[in-house]
Amino acid sequence: MQTIVEDVREGNGAAIAQAAEILRAGEIVAFPTETVYGLGASGLDGDACAKIYEAKGRPSDNPLILHVADWHMLKEVAREVPPMAEKLMIAFMPGPLTLILPRSAAVPDRVTGGQDTVGVRMPENPVARSLIRVAGIPIAAPSANLSGRPSPTTAAAVLRDMEGRIPMILNGGPCRYGVESTIVDCTGDVATILRPGAITLEDIRDLLGDCRLDPGLREGKAAPKAPGMKYRHYAPKAPMTVFVGEEGAVEEAIAAEAKKIETAGRSVGLLGSRELLLKLSDVVPSACSQSYGPRGDLETNASRLYSCLLAFDGLPVDAILAEGVEEEGLGLAILNRLKKASGGHVVHV
Ligand code: AMP
Ligand code: MG
Repeated sequence: MQTIVEDVREGNGAAIAQAAEILRAGEIVAFPTETVYGLGASGLDGDACAKIYEAKGRPSDNPLILHVADWHMLKEVAREVPPMAEKLMIAFMPGPLTLILPRSAAVPDRVTGGQDTVGVRMPENPVARSLIRVAGIPIAAPSANLSGRPSPTTAAAVLRDMEGRIPMILNGGPCRYGVESTIVDCTGDVATILRPGAITLEDIRDLLGDCRLDPGLREGKAAPKAPGMKYRHYAPKAPMTVFVGEEGAVEEAIAAEAKKIETAGRSVGLLGSRELLLKLSDVVPSACSQSYGPRGDLETNASRLYSCLLAFDGLPVDAILAEGVEEEGLGLAILNRLKKASGGHVVHV
């Protein structure tokens, strides 16, 4: 299959109409959102959704999020909208937030993995919104990467994983946030974050008074409730270790580990803040470094994270050592992705 890339950065009604036609015909299209690029199919067509699993190599028990254009479309796929969900919708939709709601009969089993709930999101990105609007149907879309790989935040990264596997990619430029949506389960008594993202725990607590983190998000805990969160995810090809703790101690621990790896004749990749990379530039001069931006600038760090991880695949590195971020606000989402990308190799210093 040939994969066409259409530039929609300055609007391109013809390309969006063509993409909507492809979706309506039961085929799949990659498109930009404000979080990461999505791999979309008609959310009401189980056979079309099956093609997403095939293109990504995604485990079949990992459900898909439905992307809607407006509240009317949202209500068509949810059987019920609990009061806490309505508050979250008013505060944060459209935006980088997915709500888990009771599903309606219109939603195929292929989308939900047979569960009685459905994940629904209303993206803010204008290309995503137009695409859903023109197609006139909810679009089921996971991230547009091969299963287990870092999520794509540019059309070029989508092409790298999906060339020859899908008919079309809409290039809307780099994604604003760079980490996937916050997933909030609204089916219990208290709102529960299943996956952290740009809408933070603090944001939701401020709004609702109470919000929990799914226990599965803690290190070494039982299987999380969002089925997708149990798999190794977001992973570069080289093995990675994440260091968390006080910044001076993290710098020392990474320097020591880097020297050990180099002494063994292997090459090191460093991932971290500009501050860390500057400090270590004389200690491990031959390391391949990728900076996720200034320390503490969590928005920049999030938006660069996946392109840094992907960049290591093109560099001669045998092991990646990564600096963690503070676990507050957006930092919770960044650290969650770093930990997953490392397959749980986290060192607390
Ligand atoms: P992705 O779109 O690749 O970012 O993955 C979608 C995420 O949403 C996965 O972690 C899924 O497990 C989660 N998800 C989707 N639908 C549901 C649902 N009904 N209940 C819980 N988690 C869900
Ligand atoms: Mg994904």
